[in-house]
Amino acid sequence: MSSGSILIKNGYILTLNPKRQIIRDGAIYIEDNRILEVGKTEVLKKHRADTTIDAKNMIVMPGLVDTHVHLSQALIRGCADDVSLVDWLKKYVWVLQGNFTKNDGKVSAELCMAEMIRTGTTSFIDCMIHTRYGFDGIAKAVEQTGMRGALSKIIMDSTGYADSSDIMYPGMVEDAEACLNETEQMYRKWHGQADGRVQVWYGLRSLGGVTPELFKEVAHRTREKSTHMTMHLGEVIDDVRYAKENFHTNLTGFAKIHNLLGPEMVFAHGIHFEDSELKVLAETRTNISHCPASNTKLASGFAKIPQMLDLGVPVSLGCDGGPSNNTYDMIREMRLAALIHKPVAKSPLVVSAEDVIEMATLGGAVAMGIDDKVGSLEAGKLADVILIDMHELGLTPAVNPVSNLVYSGSGQSVDTVIVNGKPLMRKKQLLTLNIETVMNNAKAHIIDLLERAEIEIRPKWPLL
Ligand SMILES: [Zn+2]
Repeated sequence: MSSGSILIKNGYILTLNPKRQIIRDGAIYIEDNRILEVGKTEVLKKHRADTTIDAKNMIVMPGLVDTHVHLSQALIRGCADDVSLVDWLKKYVWVLQGNFTKNDGKVSAELCMAEMIRTGTTSFIDCMIHTRYGFDGIAKAVEQTGMRGALSKIIMDSTGYADSSDIMYPGMVEDAEACLNETEQMYRKWHGQADGRVQVWYGLRSLGGVTPELFKEVAHRTREKSTHMTMHLGEVIDDVRYAKENFHTNLTGFAKIHNLLGPEMVFAHGIHFEDSELKVLAETRTNISHCPASNTKLASGFAKIPQMLDLGVPVSLGCDGGPSNNTYDMIREMRLAALIHKPVAKSPLVVSAEDVIEMATLGGAVAMGIDDKVGSLEAGKLADVILIDMHELGLTPAVNPVSNLVYSGSGQSVDTVIVNGKPLMRKKQLLTLNIETVMNNAKAHIIDLLERAEIEIRPKWPLL
């Protein structure tokens, strides 16, 4: 599909190219869905483009990639705060999601994608789409919003979670045959569609939620199709106990037995690995999606990110979900990722601003298996580009814009978002979604959902 040509000029360009060059007074020339040239404005201004965007006072950088998203949890934002993990799951999240209709699934996905575009995310991995959320409707929504998304159909055949058995809410339970059949159907219908923006993946539920036979079957089918898979692993210490009791090994030992290691896997969270396991992740190129907000809010722990980066484990960033983060703002996630490891390591030198920007761009592209196409601003790559307005009080002065972006920034400063050469947001206005409709739908749907699930959410203070 032709989107015309775009010239972005006068920007502060973070190329993320192999030399990590930054271009002051830089420009990017885009034709259709590809970047044709990146360089100084002085040189590129020769191009006569259909659209010219002045990026004065703006950072121009690759679109952000969120590698652990629950689209279905945007609708239940704020519905499970300051509670224990068991209550979080059993009293709130599973009950609410177990009462979802397909319409709720679509409304939540649109809310989530609107927030992602608004805050600079261009690509994402949704980790588990239940049949009841309506996979087809969600895929259509991705097509319409213009984002790049990997949609993982949930795979499960057991009602357990980590070392607890039979704790899953009935509305969340699916069986192996139905899961596999729906993935096949959706793969045939959607994989590679929407100008190549939609991928269909396998979303393995968790330890305790999938039997060994099904783990192996999915590992086999993933490679047969050249697609990918993702799974929560090592978010809770109970995962470690489960692997030890059932397979007499650690988490990577468990993963190896079931053929789950490799570049086609994204493990979300990855907190409770032993030091010796990190080398295995690096050697097998197994991806870790680091989710610092979720891990701190639910007191899950600190992933060993400084060690992983040292060893060369492929690390990317994930916002997780509405009740665990509770935003889908990758710039705020970068800030947290750059902050939380410093006191643990007792060193301000670990996980730098540059490290987290790499995790949020190239790292994400690697996790999605599309680092040859996106993740940096280079001639020949697909045009997934964002502009961030640095002419704001809280970002001034911008002596070192890279540092300001990470330590002072938020997604609210994102001005323009382009995916596949097509603008999805200009001057902070969404172009593919009506934000009022999206918000009004969400407000109406959460009231109905809470009623159906018989859950009441109130502040802890007296409400007059
Ligand atoms: Zn998650």
